[in-house]
Amino acid sequence: MSFSRTNNATKVAIDTNKIFASGTFKNVWQGDYTDGARKGELCVAKEFKSGSVFQSHYFEEELEIIRHSQAIIDAFAAAGVIRARILLNIPEVWVYDETGENILVEPMIENFEKFNSNTGWAPRTGDAWSEAMQALSHFSYHDSNQKFLLCDLQGGSYRDGYILTDPAIMSRTKTCGPADLGPDGINSFFHRHRCGRFCNRKWLKPAMVKQARYAARRGTTMALLPTRQSRMPLTSVRE
Ligand SMILES: [Zn+2]
Repeated sequence: MSFSRTNNATKVAIDTNKIFASGTFKNVWQGDYTDGARKGELCVAKEFKSGSVFQSHYFEEELEIIRHSQAIIDAFAAAGVIRARILLNIPEVWVYDETGENILVEPMIENFEKFNSNTGWAPRTGDAWSEAMQALSHFSYHDSNQKFLLCDLQGGSYRDGYILTDPAIMSRTKTCGPADLGPDGINSFFHRHRCGRFCNRKWLKPAMVKQARYAARRGTTMALLPTRQSRMPLTSVRE
């Protein structure tokens, strides 16, 4: 069984007059489902800030991270670390009728809060849900034999669990998209991670976490692009 929450609808109307929220990589618009089982419920539409509305590889990369995150969340459920359920919101690529532009659509999450970021920022409230999320991140690292770390955990509570959206995965090989800060990011995360009541003391951690290469930020830190961008000639704006 997959712990997912899906669109389950066939049409939406998006209000593109006002940005609902904005992250490091995406702008978010609010809308509502106008046809299908969720008709009348709220949804969000997410657009990449890079303006890549027609470039399918951005969407493919995003959906691959979601598939991988789902596998981790399902493994966490199977391991029985916590009793309550954690679901993952599943976005789909939808197309605007008028413009043909692509956008990611998923159900709205109420009572939105953030539990950690890819630099290891965490609210440290001591609250059970917060500790459960830190455990999910730590578990992902242990269960993948130190290859991956699920982070950027954010979402909202519902009656018997929690719904997450837009997580990030960092990897030893730095191959999981623009929020993957690689081994330096994983070390920074664990430099700040404090095991709470749901972490198993036997779970693996990186050997070197004495220093954090990345500063703690609540928002998502973007990986530096090593290629063309860094070779762009710069022109000073000061005379
Ligand atoms: Zn831990």
